Amino acid sequence: MQTERLIVPKRVHWNQTSLAQRLIGEDIPTVNDGVFDNRLLVIDDEMAICRIVQRTAESLGFEAVVTDNPEVFTRTVRLWHPTVIIMDLKMPTIDGIQLLRILAGERYDGHVVVSSGSDQRVLEAAMRLGQERGLRMGGLLAKPIRVDKLREMLVSFRHVSKDALSTDLADAIATNALFLEYQPKFDCGRGKYTGVEALVRWRHPQLGMIRPDEFIVLAETTGLISSLTDRVVAAAVRQAGLWHADNMLLEVAINISARDIEDLSLPDRLQQHCFDNGVDPDAIILELTETGAMREAVQMMDVLTRLRLKGFRLSIDDFGTGYSSLVQLERMPFSEVKIDRSFVAHMIENSGCRVIAEIVIDLARKLGLKSVAEGVENQATLDALVKSGCDMAQGYFLSRPIAGEKIAPFVRGHLAAPAPLDRTGGDDNTAPVG
Ligand code: C2E
Ligand code: MG
Ligand code: MG
Repeated sequence: MQTERLIVPKRVHWNQTSLAQRLIGEDIPTVNDGVFDNRLLVIDDEMAICRIVQRTAESLGFEAVVTDNPEVFTRTVRLWHPTVIIMDLKMPTIDGIQLLRILAGERYDGHVVVSSGSDQRVLEAAMRLGQERGLRMGGLLAKPIRVDKLREMLVSFRHVSKDALSTDLADAIATNALFLEYQPKFDCGRGKYTGVEALVRWRHPQLGMIRPDEFIVLAETTGLISSLTDRVVAAAVRQAGLWHADNMLLEVAINISARDIEDLSLPDRLQQHCFDNGVDPDAIILELTETGAMREAVQMMDVLTRLRLKGFRLSIDDFGTGYSSLVQLERMPFSEVKIDRSFVAHMIENSGCRVIAEIVIDLARKLGLKSVAEGVENQATLDALVKSGCDMAQGYFLSRPIAGEKIAPFVRGHLAAPAPLDRTGGDDNTAPVG
């Protein structure tokens, strides 16, 4: 580890050789100026851990400096202004409590994470001490470090410039860099998989995977949503056409944003995609989130009714979390209600959630709508839903979202087995959207 060259400008320019490169003597890819402002400093005496943390952080768009040297640590804090620090509590030359004192002396205002193999109470005591010293304590990382926990933590600290990100999103849409995964939907009555939900994915070149929850809102607020939806629909309908041609008549659910419904041309655009791929709109279910579903009632009624006339089915997504009234649910031409996963996931241990799930299933049946439960994470939940008369179930217990080409073997593999078998993790499809 080099300690001597620490002269850096107050602000690091990413297209120049960075401090991180000079400190650890490795090539770190340069990234777009301004897309992010994320610098991680790790101090740990176990280099293997430093490398894992560094690789994980870099895959999420951080620049990372790792060291086991307290002097390098202190100077790096002072000169490089890391936005996040991960510190080992127990090291041969210095301990974490001394480091917290140093950080407080520097008036460090970034996030501080403490990591250690010591017992939880020691970690918690260190956290409290850091807080008492006025530091922004960001959490605990127990060793051995779980990469998923580390990723989750770093993502929550990551700063991303919205402007830069929306430019990148526009590029990703224009160049087909988005892709789809499909989550199988299980027909509880028939005991087999009869449909899928298409879920869009974006792997940003510097920031790694970005969740749709983050970039859909961005697309909605920057006017990109209609081109994104067009890409998604084109890809999902084309995939549906391939499955149908292969004699697998799966229903394909596609998420539509509330903003899409404001566009009167939507029904014709979607119909065109179906024509182009020889797919009957009846096999396509359009999922609209409840909050969006209920705005601009007249215009919505116009677009939704035309979609229904063309044969598309409509689903009200995340039901129970928005602001719809039951009257609107009855008046809008929906075919299906998706019970929000916040109720489904807790319906076994929380009687309130269970009552809500059962009432929605009952309500759907009485209104002549199909009920779909999302977020089914275990057998007990699936059993309870089947018992309540829920029509369809979807969730990690049945299958995570998977690549399009894995759907046929998955569905065919389960045709003989009434109970879901495969609960393996999801993956990253690379089939482009559009
Ligand atoms: P959604 O439509 O309610 O989709 C279900 C979300 O729950 C998906 O998250 C799915 O991966 C996740 N999920 C499924 N089963 C389980 C489970 O058992 N446990 C847990 N914890 N989660 C489960 P994802 O893919 O991150 O999508 C999030 C949201 O982003 C979607 O919620 C949808 O509202 C939106 N979205 C996704 N793709 C698109 C798209 O192509 N267009 C639009 N407009 N929105 C999309
Ligand atoms: Mg959905
Ligand atoms: Mg949902």
